[in-house]
Amino acid sequence: MLLGDSVALVTGASRGIGRAIAVRLAEEGAKVAINYAGNDAAAAETKSLIEEKGGEAILVKANVADREADSQMVEEVVKTFGRLDILVNNAGITRDGLMLRMKEEDFDAVIDTNLKSVFYLTKLASKIMMKQKSGRIINMSSVVGLTGNAGQTNYAAAKAGVLGLTKSAAKELAARGITVNAVAPGFIGTDMTAVLPEGVKEALLSEIPLKRMGDPEDVAEAVLFLASKRAAYITGQVLQVDGGLVM
Ligand code: NAP
Repeated sequence: MLLGDSVALVTGASRGIGRAIAVRLAEEGAKVAINYAGNDAAAAETKSLIEEKGGEAILVKANVADREADSQMVEEVVKTFGRLDILVNNAGITRDGLMLRMKEEDFDAVIDTNLKSVFYLTKLASKIMMKQKSGRIINMSSVVGLTGNAGQTNYAAAKAGVLGLTKSAAKELAARGITVNAVAPGFIGTDMTAVLPEGVKEALLSEIPLKRMGDPEDVAEAVLFLASKRAAYITGQVLQVDGGLVM
């Protein structure tokens, strides 16, 4: 088992990429706290998937954009499992629209959920990890944070912000035995991309050298690697999981 008896908190783990990460980390021995915003049934399904395979998991429902809720959530994880070794900041939303028409509330919602939450939770987790003198923080960015994307000024700003935060936190926390890395997925098959118009999906697919969209499991493997001892000498890096879309 790659993760021994470690404890992981995965945000946005009720569905999509977060669920695949939670299941994969649990398969490798981690006890997993499954965070989500509101979808109780989906979160319970992630928990069942883990338990069916003999793993251990708890549900921690919290809006990651709410600092107080984050604080209570981290407290609950440590109260239940006694420690926190791996934080995966995966929860994210989109509120797409062309910039000239984008409402400020849609800009703020995406920044709060996709970026500010990473600041809150990285702070909270690193305090615990510093005492343990070890830890792994993995932040979900996107290739859109590297390239920009018409219709996603809010999302691209948040995902680019995640990269800057990741590198800065990596520099601050390295001496404490904590690594901080980012994963930047390309076009992955989840609820988030299911809503894209067929024309947009086809255009994207034609741009991907590996000629398929990614599965959540493709991203989960990258996160597992960064969370494991195998990545002990890697920090402040961005691992793209995009089928070669952005080179
Ligand atoms: P998804 O299928 O839409 O799932 C989103 C997850 O985030 C759900 O578990 C949802 O919980 C949770 N969530 C949303 N807002 C939250 C909040 N305020 N507090 C706590 N949890 C919240 O998304 P996905 O495609 O798996 O994406 C996961 C991450 O990968 C996101 O950061 C996304 O930006 C990034 N990403 C995705 C792609 C892609 O192609 N899919 C590409 C690049 C990057 P509920 O079920 O309770 O709503």
